[in-house]
Amino acid sequence: MFKSIFDQYDWEEVKASIYAKTSRDVELALHRQRRTLDDFAALISPAAAPYLGQMAAISHALTRQRFGNTMQLYIPMYLSNECQNICTYCGFSLDNKIRRKTLSSAEILMETAAIKEMGFEHVLLVTGEASQLVGVDYFKKVLQLLRPHFANISMEVQPLDEADYRELSAQGLHTVLVYQETYHQEDYKKHHPKGRKSNFDYRLETPDRLGKAGIHKMGLGVLIGLEDWRTDSFYTALHLSYLEKKYWQTKYSISFPRLRPFSGGLMPKVEMSNRELVQLICTYRLFNQEVELSLSTREDEAFRDHIVPLGITSMSAASKTNPGGYTVDPQSLEQFEISDDRSAAAIAAMLKQQGYEAVWKDWDPAFSGEIKKVAG
Ligand code: SF4
Repeated sequence: MFKSIFDQYDWEEVKASIYAKTSRDVELALHRQRRTLDDFAALISPAAAPYLGQMAAISHALTRQRFGNTMQLYIPMYLSNECQNICTYCGFSLDNKIRRKTLSSAEILMETAAIKEMGFEHVLLVTGEASQLVGVDYFKKVLQLLRPHFANISMEVQPLDEADYRELSAQGLHTVLVYQETYHQEDYKKHHPKGRKSNFDYRLETPDRLGKAGIHKMGLGVLIGLEDWRTDSFYTALHLSYLEKKYWQTKYSISFPRLRPFSGGLMPKVEMSNRELVQLICTYRLFNQEVELSLSTREDEAFRDHIVPLGITSMSAASKTNPGGYTVDPQSLEQFEISDDRSAAAIAAMLKQQGYEAVWKDWDPAFSGEIKKVAG
């Protein structure tokens, strides 16, 4: 399990080694064909800041080579804002006195119609953690309901057991996103003081359970702003490398959520500039040519337009972060404010203008023989 690798590293030592990198380390990293974790550390270090132009050019070329001129588009569907956890950075936190809502089957189908109307074939289902109300049985029901409507169904919900993932996978779940939030164990406790999410180890080992359950794709990441983003990103890259070796049949994606304002919100402990976010995105691409890199509507229009050719392979569009946000209950509380509120058609047009093709459907059940299985 990853925990045994994680325990071999000390946060302060990792941080010190990143900040001690020199321009020579960066140049060596830039010129290598296959880059190591140590190169990753050099490329995210402050010493790499003057090399951003070079990093962006390599990242662009590598991404084009592997992914062509395509950009996958997906949209989140928030199913519930019920949550039994206290997370200091989230509008759905148990201690936030908001109106709670969980979508019924009829409401989910109404949201689905609105989403399909925009052209999406890939949906990301999101809930808070309230296992009694939105647990595995609810997820199974939702997957059965949505499977005929979407080519690709992803989920960002509470960590589950391996057997649950197996069951949901059999119901058509394709991808699971599970962000560690921060790999800084003490700060993790401060930000998650109550609820099941306060169990750092259970969360840390979730990708192992996903790998064992044979999930097709998993998404990793940290919430940028909780802790030193360079050190947190190093741990994410360490986690990714471990998982790729152990669960080599699984595909991986990385996301870069920066802390956004929300009702009653927490200010970021560490600010990350736009240039630093570009540096991080390019570093991931230079380090790993296969990994998908995803950017949400947390980022603003200008930044998203600018980043398209620099390494990103998937984007959310037209997102609402409240349950029923598309049509059923547009007034319910958002999990966080989005920055890029353009329509899906406007995003597709922006991509086209930059020579990219919007991909609405990157997966078809026929790829895995699922259709045959269902039919037989
Ligand atoms: S981040 Fe997730 S678990 Fe934490 S309060 Fe928000 S919805 Fe609940």
